[in-house]
Amino acid sequence: MSDGKSILVDTTRCTGCRGCQVACKQWNELPGTQTKQTGTYQNPPDLGFETYKVVRFAEGLKTGGKPYWHFFSDMCRHCVNPPCVAAGDEIVHDEATGAVVYPKGNSKIDFDTAIGVCPYNIPRKNAKSAEVSKCTMCIDRQQGGQKPACVLSCPTAMEYGERDEILREVDRRVAELQKTNPKAQAIDAEDVRVIFIVDDEPKTYHDHAAAG
Ligand code: SF4
Ligand code: SF4
Repeated sequence: MSDGKSILVDTTRCTGCRGCQVACKQWNELPGTQTKQTGTYQNPPDLGFETYKVVRFAEGLKTGGKPYWHFFSDMCRHCVNPPCVAAGDEIVHDEATGAVVYPKGNSKIDFDTAIGVCPYNIPRKNAKSAEVSKCTMCIDRQQGGQKPACVLSCPTAMEYGERDEILREVDRRVAELQKTNPKAQAIDAEDVRVIFIVDDEPKTYHDHAAAG
């Protein structure tokens, strides 16, 4: 396999606008989800069978009492060696891009295996049909020479390109951020194609922001 493609999500540049979340719904023709206000802008509250991307909002106090408000545009990380392919022969690990795709209408992907091995708690199941879904890295758009819809919609934080170029950009940005904040880091960059840059402990963004 070639090195394939990667997506960079620099959370230090994310405004929490949720344009990526809406663009994902639109491109994939996924219906809106009935929700209610729960005291947070995170809405719907989680990923779902028809929600491949959700912007997570997390707030709290840093050591010393300074408040934080983190945004984390959660999605499948398209692992370089994806453990979830063990969940069924229907799962495609695309040679050219590295995207991990659960084809629409799948019927034999074992959800318990997929969610059990996923380090980032990503796959979701249709309660009625038992079909399993998640982000496809917009494989259809990539095959047509287009960026993933979320990346195209993002005004500030997301980039897409050849994996080696994205990894170089990740290193450059982390080095720049670390000049003023030693906590700045790229999450699991060697293991995933969707690489998040954060400037605080990954757990303060989301329980499954990092593997393990
Ligand atoms: Fe599979 Fe989870 Fe990795 Fe996505 S993040 S490729 S669902 S193991
Ligand atoms: Fe953040 Fe970009 Fe998504 Fe807006 S579109 S929430 S800036 S990642």
